[in-house]
Amino acid sequence: MTENNPKNEEKRSLNFIEEIIEEDIRTGKNNSRVHTRFPPEPNGYLHIGHAKSICLNFGLGKKYNGKTNLRFDDTNPVKEDIEYVDSIMEDVRWLGFDWEDRLFYASDYFEQLYEYALILIRKGKAFVCDMSAEEIAETRGAPTRPGTESPYRNRTVEENLELFTKMRAGVFPDGSKVLRAKIGMNSPNMHMRDPVLYRIIHATHHRTGDKWCIYPMYDFAHGQSDSIERITHSICTLEFEVHRPLYDWFIKEIGIYAPRQIEFARLNLSYTVMSKRKLLELVKEGYVSGWDDPRMPTICGLRRRGYTPESIRNFADIIGVAKRDNVIDVSLLEFCVREDLNKRADRRMAVLNPLKVIIDNYPDGPGEEMEAINNPEDETKGKRKIPFSRELFIEQEDFMEDPPAKFFRLAPGREVRLKYAYIVRCENFIKDSETGKITEVHCTYDPMTKSGMPNSSRKVKGTLHWVSAQYAIRAEVRLYERLFNKENPDDMPEGQSYKDCINPESLHLVNGFIEPAAENSQVLDKYQFERIGYFSVDKDSSPQNLIFNRVVSLKDSWTKMEKVK
Ligand code: ATP
Ligand code: MG
Repeated sequence: MTENNPKNEEKRSLNFIEEIIEEDIRTGKNNSRVHTRFPPEPNGYLHIGHAKSICLNFGLGKKYNGKTNLRFDDTNPVKEDIEYVDSIMEDVRWLGFDWEDRLFYASDYFEQLYEYALILIRKGKAFVCDMSAEEIAETRGAPTRPGTESPYRNRTVEENLELFTKMRAGVFPDGSKVLRAKIGMNSPNMHMRDPVLYRIIHATHHRTGDKWCIYPMYDFAHGQSDSIERITHSICTLEFEVHRPLYDWFIKEIGIYAPRQIEFARLNLSYTVMSKRKLLELVKEGYVSGWDDPRMPTICGLRRRGYTPESIRNFADIIGVAKRDNVIDVSLLEFCVREDLNKRADRRMAVLNPLKVIIDNYPDGPGEEMEAINNPEDETKGKRKIPFSRELFIEQEDFMEDPPAKFFRLAPGREVRLKYAYIVRCENFIKDSETGKITEVHCTYDPMTKSGMPNSSRKVKGTLHWVSAQYAIRAEVRLYERLFNKENPDDMPEGQSYKDCINPESLHLVNGFIEPAAENSQVLDKYQFERIGYFSVDKDSSPQNLIFNRVVSLKDSWTKMEKVK
């Protein structure tokens, strides 16, 4: 997707996966066919790490005129749910990808996988074992110490066939028996030590209902599912490298088509947790408002926050694919959305921390309209009118009673330009004697300084954004900060967990004012609030009660602060 990224116009060199694929195409492997898949387990919502994998798999399918399947690896009925299936499909589509008619489920292959298990049993390569899960774990040994063989390992083929058939028929209770591969207990690779292939779970599956009470292990389903779908390049994350010999063993012993597995480093982001278990805890324990809380790294959270599919695809493209684990700075993701919204988002003026300004020499009454450019990056977005009136709001922080020399905003006796309007001069101000807070600033304006007037080009050092107190509309604005205040929440000191570095300041609610042009905003409309940042209309927003989420501030102020420290 290099073409979506203007900063990256020169053709980038191939990544190591593309090199493998191009070599396979060149040598005519699989008749030069390219077929990838994205294989989520429907046990949670997708996050930005999955987005990386989606962009990679679908991106390769597209680039090499191939195909990409969406396959749910739904082998564990206890943790999986249709809610997750639906959300995953929505997220993949939203990211801009299409599996066409290739939507599959590992559960569609349960019968086939059962047949594969029978093949192994008949070859004397699998046996029914009565040990408990704990006993199996205890006898596995350690990487430097061989395990011990199960006492059930030498059951006859007939006995195994009979027991396995009975397992399927529901004769035995959960946990009483498993089917294991017969490979060896002294392999240096722990995954090869007579691994479990099937377990008994009397639970209702979200697709197969109560048809099955034995379920294949992920390891016994994944590689074979790839094989059944004739996937050419089975791309997965690094932790599966050690599973590869086992997948290859299954494929060889069963005697079926062999996809090529290629591992890449999973995406890790600073200031972010990505484990589904932890994300689920954040939701269940109420640290966030739900899977789509705009502080979550989930795709639905990013979408609600105001991220665009283009910005996420561009991010995936920029980070590329690595062979070694690494951590990407989350500010790179923020950079990508800022870049995209800069081109896409209309400008509006909004004041989040209002201070009233009264222009004493401006006539009372309806005021006038000023012309403003919607997006200086995109002429086709046109212009709009902004009402100007005698009473305005500016930001509290744009006024100082006793400023330092380099303060180029409003202060007693100083002049500023109000963007798209006049130059004003501060004459005096009113201060609450009890709180010390400035409550009102009085100015005069120079009528000759607006656009089209003789002194319109007169220069002053500062330009401020503003809204008309008379016409501005109220809006709830949700200012988000990072959810964690430690760079690596997964790596906390002994006795602490990622929950100990949750940022208590990750959400600030303010009631701001926004120019009336934003009145009819629809959910997910995006704006740049001038001088403040990018904002997106929240899903709970309505015309009576506008709610904006801050997507990202205008500049990367956070990183700068870190550098100063
Ligand atoms: P788990 O298996 O622990 O439930 P998972 O994050 O691996 O969690 P899956 O649903 O199995 O979830 O993942 C689907 C696909 O997304 C897999 O191919 C996986 O390798 C990939 N994936 C998951 N997390 C990341 C990540 N952080 N970066 C890149 N790819 C990822
Ligand atoms: Mg997984």
